[in-house]
Formats: sequence, structure tokens, C-alpha cells
Amino acid sequence: MNCIKEEFSLEVKLISVVVPCYNEQDVLPLFRDEIIKVTDGMKKKHPALDFEFLFINDGSKDGTLKILREYSEKDGRFRYISFSRNFGKEAAMYAGLENCKGDYAVIIDADLQHPPSFIPEMYEYVSSGEYDCAATRRVSRKGEPGLLSFLSRMFYKVINKISQTNIVDGAQDFRFMTRQMVDSILSMQEYNRFSKGIFSWVGFETKYIGYENVKRAAGKTAWSFRKLFLYSLEGIFAFTTAPLALASFLGALFSFAAFVMIVYTVIDYFLHGSPVAGYPTIVCLVLLIGGVQLLSVGILGQYTAKMYFETKKRPIYIVKETESKEL
Ligand code: UDP
Ligand code: MG
Repeated sequence: MNCIKEEFSLEVKLISVVVPCYNEQDVLPLFRDEIIKVTDGMKKKHPALDFEFLFINDGSKDGTLKILREYSEKDGRFRYISFSRNFGKEAAMYAGLENCKGDYAVIIDADLQHPPSFIPEMYEYVSSGEYDCAATRRVSRKGEPGLLSFLSRMFYKVINKISQTNIVDGAQDFRFMTRQMVDSILSMQEYNRFSKGIFSWVGFETKYIGYENVKRAAGKTAWSFRKLFLYSLEGIFAFTTAPLALASFLGALFSFAAFVMIVYTVIDYFLHGSPVAGYPTIVCLVLLIGGVQLLSVGILGQYTAKMYFETKKRPIYIVKETESKEL
């Protein structure tokens, strides 16, 4: 229905393609060719569609910015925002959504791991009005180290058990969204951003399209094991306070165990007159309870630290340069 209306009234709809880039000089030319091919194809089919390509240079140390400057000089559809330093992909995505002008926005990686050829299908789903968002979802973890795969799966299991927000395993940041959904995401201005949770928290109907993992076209990933681990903790602390409840639960459990042991020891002493053999038990208990206490304080500390950064109200990103002269 929407589609028919669009073709007849030729009401122009702008699609913004938002691309976070960190040291992507090797892959950008390939990406550009591919995205132009795909979007030109879409324009042929739907003449009322227009495109803008908004690249976020997230403090790259290679020639990424130079390439982006060239692209925008040659073709007015190419825009860029260059950060003053590396703020991370989350910040880059936020900046892209905040500065894009489209009626629809699609977030896509520059390394062609998110094949642009999915965009037409995503557009069909969303423009039909049935869905507000179309996203890809990895159906397998082929090509990923076994341990990493296992840990990722565990992460999704745990977080979905303890958090109210459903975080879909394998769902990616490659998403096609309506302006309404983009604005909802922008209304969440938290500093500690975990997009996988945010996308799901805002609600709306999402169509997941399954696909096999593909390798990076060139360059190398910016994600180390350490970064991934910290990112998963970010997800847990941002979307659930269950670890705090764990501290209370352990407290209750140990209090109960202590009570049972006291009763047992007293009865045992009066009935059998057994001497209370103390030293090893005490050492073990002191260590155990000390450990649990430190863990609980640590958990509390994590939430306090997050709160500390939220209350500072620092900007999510800082722009140094864009394609338009006025900032
Ligand atoms: N990226 C970014 N800032 C960063 C790290 C990555 O903007 O600090 C971009 C990167 O250029 C790419 C996308 O985020 O377009 C995904 O990064 P990468 O390919 O390194 O991650 P992976 O695909 O391995 O999860
Ligand atoms: Mg990648």
C-alpha cells in the first residue's frame, strides 16, 4: 500500500546510510563501490528514493579521513563527521543517527561484513509498514574461534536470564530503521551505551534476517578479546541490576548457613561434648565470606562507577570536522 502511494505521488524518501569507520582506509573503496551499486539498483526500482551516506570517522589513525574528504568533494551524497579522537563504535553510531536526515536510517559496518546487498530486502520489510526495523542475525558462528563462540553464547544465555530486556543472540548492529525508531534511540542519551540492548529496549517490530558470517573484506578488527569481555560487562551493568540482587542472595544464604551451623555446634557440644575443632573451619569461612563480601562490594562499585559517569553528563562524542564548513 505504502509502496503504491510512493510510486504515484513520488514523495521523495531519504535513506541515510550510517557507517562508523575506524582505520578503514583499505576497505573504504570496496565499500563505496558496493554501496553505490546497491543503492543505484534500489533507485532504479523506486525512483522516489534518495540516499545520503554518512561516514563517522572515529579518530582513525590511517588515511580514512582523507578518503572521506575526497568522497564528499566528488559526490554531494557523501557526508562525514570526524571525531576529535576514538570514542568507540557506540558513540559513532549515535553521532550518525543524530546527524542523519533520512526518513529511514541504516547502520552498516564499513568492512563489508554487513553485506550492503541486504539493504533492498530490509527496505521492503520496513516500507511495507509491517516492521519498524529490519536487522540481520548471524545464524552460525563459523570462522570464529571456538572459545569465543562458547563465551558469546554463554553471555547471551546469562544476560537473557537476568535481564528484562531481550537481547537477541547473533543480532547485529546492521539495521534498517524508521525515523520514529531512530528518534526513540536518540532519546536514550545514556553515556554507557550498549546498542544491542538499546535497540531492543525501545521496542517496535523488528524483522530478523538470518545470514552466514562473512570475513572482513580488508583491514583488521578493532575488537580484542579484552574489549569484547568489557563490552559484555557493559551490557550486563547497563541492562540489569540482577548482580546486585545476587549480593543480597549470597548474604541471605550465608546467614542461613551460619545459623544452622551455630545450632548444630551448640547441640553437638551439649549432647556429645565434642570439642569444637576450630582452626581450619575458621580460616575457610573467613576466606569464603571475605571473598563474597569483596565480590559484592565490587558489584556495587561497578554500578556506582556507571552512575558516576552518567552524572558527569559528558558528551558522547566530540566533532572536529565535517564535510560542511559550518559546524
Ligand atoms: N569501529 C568504530 N570505532 C571503533 C571500532 C570499530 O567506528 O572504535 C567501526 C569499524 O570501522 C567497523 C565497525 O565499527 O565499521 C565494526 O568494527 P570491526 O569490524 O572492528 O568489528 P567486528 O566486525 O570484528 O565486530
Ligand atoms: Mg567487522
